[in-house]
Amino acid sequence: SITLRDIRKTYANGPRVLHGVDLDIGDGEFVVIVGPSGCGKSTLLRLIAGLERCDDGEIVIDGRRANALPPQDRDIAMIFQNYALYPHMSVLENIAFGLELRKVPRKTREARARAVAETLQLTPYLDRKPGALSGGQRQRVAMGRAMARETSTFLMDEPLSNLDNALRNTMRTEIKTIHQQLGATIVFVTHDQTEALSLADRIAVMKDGYLQQFDTPAAIYDRPANRFVASFLGTPK
Ligand code: ATP
Ligand code: MG
Repeated sequence: SITLRDIRKTYANGPRVLHGVDLDIGDGEFVVIVGPSGCGKSTLLRLIAGLERCDDGEIVIDGRRANALPPQDRDIAMIFQNYALYPHMSVLENIAFGLELRKVPRKTREARARAVAETLQLTPYLDRKPGALSGGQRQRVAMGRAMARETSTFLMDEPLSNLDNALRNTMRTEIKTIHQQLGATIVFVTHDQTEALSLADRIAVMKDGYLQQFDTPAAIYDRPANRFVASFLGTPK
């Protein structure tokens, strides 16, 4: 589970980005975060992952206060908006990389990476370097690296935004399967309304660094908390 209490964040020399966000994400829950560009979605994910520190507030992960924990001690896999792959490593090595840090034996690492690559339709590209892949393929490698870790908490920042429609549908189904099979907790950022409504157990709607509403897709659609939420996701109020 992930609990955020009154999270505030200001970047150095920047305006305040988060103004006191509270969020309770249960084990195995699929939470989708939506909101206009610049409202603080990626910042929120980076705080949960430990890639940024908050100025104020509390982050509790699986019952443990995590504010000061480095990313590698949080047991969370993050898939970035701008997939960060290692250019000198092959697809297979990139996918297996997360396991290297965890001292999984080499044979096991490779087998797991191959299995993940197969699900993501990356088998033909295992020996290529990221520079020789399309944007969508790179995005899938980034996803594969997170999946290979077999952690149960995934933070996904617009992981499907660079894919064509067919692949996006396949991947959406794939992510749903991971969620169900692993009982994974997923926090997923998207600009795509259909994606939000079809994937989420609950949707968190943000605006200007404030959480506007956090509820099931049906509840948000039927009873938007305010005009902004209504125009963003629900029916006009
Ligand atoms: P998008 O939908 O465009 O990805 P977002 O909701 O993910 O937007 P964030 O990336 O969290 O938004 O950014 C929130 C605000 O913080 C923006 O105004 C952005 O310019 C600013 N910001 C983000 N990262 C930094 C940084 N490293 N230093 C300074 N300001 C930053
Ligand atoms: Mg973002």
